[in-house]
Amino acid sequence: MNSLWLDSINKKSFPSLSNNIETDICILGAGIFGLTCAYYLTKLGFKVTVIEKDDIGEKTTGHTTAKITSQHGLFYDYLTQAYGQKLAHDYLEANQNAIKNIKQIIDDENIKCDFEYKNNYVYTTKKSEVDVIQKEVTSVENLGFPCAFVTKAGLPFPIEGAICFKNQAEFHPLKYLYGLCNSIIKNGGEIYTHTTAINLEKDFDDTYIIYTNKHVIKSHYVIVATHYPFINFPGFYFTKMYQSTSYIIAIDTKKTLFNGMYITASSPTFSYRTAKYKGKKLLLIGGGDHKTGQPSCFQDTYGILEQEAKKFYPDSKVLFRWNTRDCISLDKIPYIGQYANTMPNVYVGTGFKKWGMTSSNVAANIIVDKICGNKNKYEYVFKSSRLKPIKNMDEMKNMIVQSTNSLLIEKLKPANMNFDEIENNSGSIIEINNEKVGIYKNPNGKIFAVKPVCTHLGCLLSWNDVDKTWDCPCHGSRFNYDGKNLYDPAFKNLDTYDLEN
Ligand SMILES: Cc1cc2nc3c(=O)[nH]c(=O)nc-3n(C[C@H](O)[C@H](O)[C@H](O)COP(=O)(O)OP(=O)(O)OC[C@H]3O[C@@H](n4cnc5c(N)ncnc54)[C@H](O)[C@@H]3O)c2cc1C
Repeated sequence: MNSLWLDSINKKSFPSLSNNIETDICILGAGIFGLTCAYYLTKLGFKVTVIEKDDIGEKTTGHTTAKITSQHGLFYDYLTQAYGQKLAHDYLEANQNAIKNIKQIIDDENIKCDFEYKNNYVYTTKKSEVDVIQKEVTSVENLGFPCAFVTKAGLPFPIEGAICFKNQAEFHPLKYLYGLCNSIIKNGGEIYTHTTAINLEKDFDDTYIIYTNKHVIKSHYVIVATHYPFINFPGFYFTKMYQSTSYIIAIDTKKTLFNGMYITASSPTFSYRTAKYKGKKLLLIGGGDHKTGQPSCFQDTYGILEQEAKKFYPDSKVLFRWNTRDCISLDKIPYIGQYANTMPNVYVGTGFKKWGMTSSNVAANIIVDKICGNKNKYEYVFKSSRLKPIKNMDEMKNMIVQSTNSLLIEKLKPANMNFDEIENNSGSIIEINNEKVGIYKNPNGKIFAVKPVCTHLGCLLSWNDVDKTWDCPCHGSRFNYDGKNLYDPAFKNLDTYDLEN
């Protein structure tokens, strides 16, 4: 399911890696984080090579909402309470700077990406939540940043209150990424697509060898920008983060649309912005979130967004539906810095918790400073090796229960469906000769059979009937019904069976 962004741009192609190479800095992954690092580093004169498993920006960044804001939901009261004013201040300042940095890149490189400054609002329609919003206003003011409590925000329905950050922004994320690619190439960088990093090893001379599905790359520094870190040990990021999926629809309406960017203060989430498409202004509505790999249905995802649209825009026509997912760390702060204590010169940026437009820029600046040996004021906030007390015990327990279920208990339980019960255009796990097999029957009854075990860490997959995919409830990898790997952290396809012969 293509996003509006992917549909409104001519795809940019790059070659695959065709021989072994050596480079200064190898960046794994060409989403907004990897390409921002590549942009800054090529500008500084480093020899930079970017490798990308699929095509440029087509994963999380190509399916985002692309609001560029330091207002990451109601966040600053939480940060102040949990980690103190200094850390909350520095988090906010780093993300405010990121907005300026993105604008600077756009101006310096003359990137036409529909960048526009907008006010951003976190709002509520519930009287009971006004106090929480007012507390957030006080916390942000105490950090020394301007914000306002408002009761009118331009939405087509009444609200009880909102916190407004002025001079935030929005853009077309793929136009921005393609602009970065042009500059990276102009600065002497190299980009290879359809080239997957499979493994990473330290060489005898303290450089790294990156094994890809094509050839090998020798590099002094490595930046893991694969969204979900693809190396499990060391790092152990799979024990510190989970993935959450959200859905977006883009609607066309004859009614006049508002001008700001909005998100609800609590669940159910509704997120709004507008975007240009073929001379029109469309309304984007996001929400329907759930932990990636948990069962979902059309009604609870796109369905509630479409209902919301119809309430205020009865003439609305849905032009696009898409979804994607992002990594969320247990303390809600991204992991940025050295990949692991035992891996010097290997860096990571992840856990952007659905606010990766600014977080990726913060991350790129920290990592560029580390490579250049400069001190970065914000590094301590995001330190990837931090061992802070876990603030989110509930999610920690969920992750342990989910992993035990999918790695062990569900694998031992007999499947509760048999082959004949699976309807066309649907899928389920069945048992054949005491082995679990994932079956999907397409609308014409053609059968696709896969081994429903995640190629990342071996969890039993679950069927996603909205997207017709096999999803991992533990770590959020996703596979098409025919077994093709779609989303990280897994990068290998599922084994398939031919049941028709
Ligand atoms: C529904 C939704 C809406 C969002 N809206 C917003 C928003 O409004 N504002 C905001 O700030 N943030 C938003 N976010 C978050 C933001 O989109 C992400 O944080 C950001 O796009 C992540 O960028 P990335 O570069 O880390 O990941 P990606 O864009 O996923 O890039 C990683 C790349 O690495 C590649 N890769 C993976 N494995 C390998 C491998 N082994 N070898 C080589 N390449 C590999 C992938 O193919 C991919 O292209 C949203 C997230 C979601 C889920």
